Amino acid sequence: MEIIFYVFASGMGLIIGSFLNCLIWRLHTGESLNGRSHCPKCGRQINWYDNIPVLSFLLLRGRCRYCRKKISWQYPIVELTTGLLFLIAFARIFPKEAFLSPAYPFRPADFLALFRDWFLIAVMVIVFIYDLRWYLILDVITLPAAAVLFLTNLGIMVLEGRAWPGLAYLLLSGIIGGSFFLLQFLISRGRWIGGGDIRLGFLMGLALGWPQVLTAIFLAYFLGSIVGLGLIASGKKEWGSKVPLGTFLSVATLAALFWGEQILNWYLNLF
Ligand SMILES: [Zn+2]
Repeated sequence: MEIIFYVFASGMGLIIGSFLNCLIWRLHTGESLNGRSHCPKCGRQINWYDNIPVLSFLLLRGRCRYCRKKISWQYPIVELTTGLLFLIAFARIFPKEAFLSPAYPFRPADFLALFRDWFLIAVMVIVFIYDLRWYLILDVITLPAAAVLFLTNLGIMVLEGRAWPGLAYLLLSGIIGGSFFLLQFLISRGRWIGGGDIRLGFLMGLALGWPQVLTAIFLAYFLGSIVGLGLIASGKKEWGSKVPLGTFLSVATLAALFWGEQILNWYLNLF
């Protein structure tokens, strides 16, 4: 029985992933969101049956039906990843037992938490790809998203009857997330990091709360140094190369969302 719900959650992720691919491309080119999908190489409109997440990519063997030019691997990878992340988020909030027992205590706050997690996943997928490809974290994404995540977390806290002092911790968490990057920005006069990182840090704080915002930041630097050293060792990058910090921050944010407590305990047990 629960399998139906898990298929639904993954399917939602595949569809949203497909939409995110389109959104990322249109944010980059400045096209409006209205208008049908078209091949970025030849401009021909894409039929609905050529626009089915993952499946169409496989059936077309990764090429446009008309011009036969290659479709980026980004498309199926983003779709599959979003599908998997949506499933993880769903199963974490609604475990198998929820669908096996009719007496399972569904709480309104759980549905709001699912919305928050799915929304955060979508935002982080955009940040990951955009920063990786164009070294840019868009305020037009992070600022409205920060407001939505803040209000959703506030709603969850109200429903759970812990709005105070929850609200104070949440705001503090946002301020700490933003200040961490603001400080580096000021010390380096904008050479180490960009202004987009400050806004992303603020968003991370409002989304994850205290103390997971710190878990996410440290995890991002940990991941960044491992990947960075790997790329330098393999000769693909040099010391001082540009680093898409937002890409690492987005991975770390979702890891902290799902497994923040385990990561924090593991880290504290090291000492
Ligand atoms: Zn084409």
